[in-house]
Parts: sequence; structure tokens; C-alpha cells
Amino acid sequence: MSHGSSGTETSEGDLRKTGLALKHDREWDYELDRIVSAVNERDASTVGLQFPEGLKRRGPAVADDLRSLLGDDVHVMISGQPCYGACDLDTYLMRRTDVFVHFGHSPMKESEKIIYVPLFSNVDVAPIMEEAIGELPEEEVGLVTTAQHMNRFEEMRSWLEQRGYTVHTRRGDERLTHEGQVLGCNYASADIDADQILYVGGGKFHPLGLAMEHPDKRVVIADPVNNVVTVADTEKFMKQRYGAVHRAMDAERWGVVFCTKIGQGRWEVATDIVENNDDAYLITMDEVTPDRLRNFDFDAFVNTGCPRITTDDGPQFHKPMLTPGEYEIAVGNEPLESLSFDTFHGTW
Ligand code: SF4
Repeated sequence: MSHGSSGTETSEGDLRKTGLALKHDREWDYELDRIVSAVNERDASTVGLQFPEGLKRRGPAVADDLRSLLGDDVHVMISGQPCYGACDLDTYLMRRTDVFVHFGHSPMKESEKIIYVPLFSNVDVAPIMEEAIGELPEEEVGLVTTAQHMNRFEEMRSWLEQRGYTVHTRRGDERLTHEGQVLGCNYASADIDADQILYVGGGKFHPLGLAMEHPDKRVVIADPVNNVVTVADTEKFMKQRYGAVHRAMDAERWGVVFCTKIGQGRWEVATDIVENNDDAYLITMDEVTPDRLRNFDFDAFVNTGCPRITTDDGPQFHKPMLTPGEYEIAVGNEPLESLSFDTFHGTW
């Protein structure tokens, strides 16, 4: 299989387990001109760069390019903090730099200080949409995607319309920048009048959340990165969540995690739990990891930060890790049937 020049797409089957999906050679547009203009306009002497995990290795090269464009009197710094979303700005570096550039995510909240550079994927979406047609029998279809593929949203819409579909889209709440955009913690853009939804994008997490949040809808996943079409099946995921809730039902002492990342704080959710449970303790932290919680001797945890940590990494924590809604079930305040995906609204 050849992976030659930039954006090479292949149609040679499901790439999820091959590791090849990662090798798509991409040409990102770092929008250096926009950064240089902002530096000149603000007469800036310090620039902070923040990359998502998958692009951190490109940071030094981008810094080099900027340094050669800006000259020696401007200092360019790279954030080493973990970064999984626009909810995750490195506020330390932001405060200490005149221009702060956040790559790879759409704005959760605009600020004069921050330049958001989206870094769209250049993967062609038409071949995988063609394959997805077989899974979309009805005329009405909802369309959603992630920030990475937002540049092709209108193309996706007209592609479907040309094939006779009535396409339903909507802009979600203020946590989402674009019409049709979903986040791992927010599916408000899928509150639409169609029983089937086409999700175009990489990975399974978003469509799983979407399917749990909208159990009455059929969610078809067209993944142009891994070259595969599937229908979201929440069963395995639900079992994992029910398992965690069951294991937490006997818990006496609870650690309630309040995440200090700028766009992940749910203070009221966290303090409500602690105020109503004498055996619950509020723990503040930025990055929530199994290692960081291991030394706490609680029977179970509740994570009020990013729901992906709870659901993706849940099994790696040494004690059950629940979402706030799951906590209410585990302590008997809500029935088991109320189990749902943990979504997150608002910004900060
Ligand atoms: S809270 Fe989690 S799912 Fe939501 S935007 Fe941030 S990293 Fe993504």
C-alpha cells in the first residue's frame, strides 16, 4: 500500500487496526502570516504556542519557522501541558505571553489574546460517504462532524443533497463554534428532526456519545481517517458504565474531582455533591489521571471534568470512576434507567 504525497487516501479497507491511518501524510496550514501580523500589530515580544497531543512533535518546526519570520527579539515558547480541546488552554503560558496561539481546536470562547488556528484535515470525505449511503435508507438525515473536518461541512451537505437527502443541521450551544459541530462532551448540534444521523469523522468516541445522548436515533459513522463505515452500538459501552456504577454502589468514601482546566470546571456540580454527602471530599486538579488519584484512599470517584476521562480511561483507575449522573444512581438518588452520557454545556 502506498502512502505517497500529501493527503493520500486509500480505499483498501478498514485501517483501524493497521496503524496506517496515522501515516496519512498531512500538510497543515499553521497560518503563520496571521500569527506574524498579530505579533506586529501588538508589538509583542513573547509568543506562546499550544498544540494538541497528536501535533506536539511538530511544535519545534513551527517555532523555527516563526522565529525566522519574527526575528531575534521575539521569544517563542511551546506549551508542554497536555491538551485535548479548546477547554484546555494553557492559562499559565497565556498569561505570560503577548500572543497566545492555540492550534487544532475551534474556539470555545473568543478572547483578544488568543489566536485559534483550526488545522483542518485534508482527508477526502466523499469516498467514505459513498459507502455510508447503504446505511442511510431514509430521506431525512442529520449531519454532524468534528472541528477537524468542518472545512468540508458544506461539501458534505451538498453531496448528500445531490443524492436526494433532506439534510438537517443545527448549531449547538455556546460551547460549539460551528453549525453541525460536535464535541466529545456536547451533542447539542444533533437535536434535529431526523431519525438517522450521519457522523463524518475519525474515531468512535463522538458517535458513541451521540448515540447515547440520542438513543432514539440511528447514528451512522463514516470515518474517513480509518476508512470504515459502522453503526454506533452503545451496548458494550453501556455495560462498562453499568459495571462501574454497580461497583461503586457500596462505596462509603467518595473523592469528587473538580477539574481546574479553564473550560472543564463544573464547580456547582462538584460542590453540590460534597455538600450533600459528608463522606465526599472535593479534590482539585488539572489533568485527571489514574496515577494522580492512586494515592487517595477512596472507595470511588466522581469526575466533574472532561467526561472522556471517565468513559475512555475509566477502567484504568484503581477505583470506580463515575460521571456526576452515574454518582446519583450509585448513591440511590436516581434510578438505574436514568443512566446517560455526561454532557457539558457552557464555556467559562
Ligand atoms: S471537556 Fe473533554 S470532550 Fe469536552 S471539549 Fe474538552 S477535551 Fe473535549
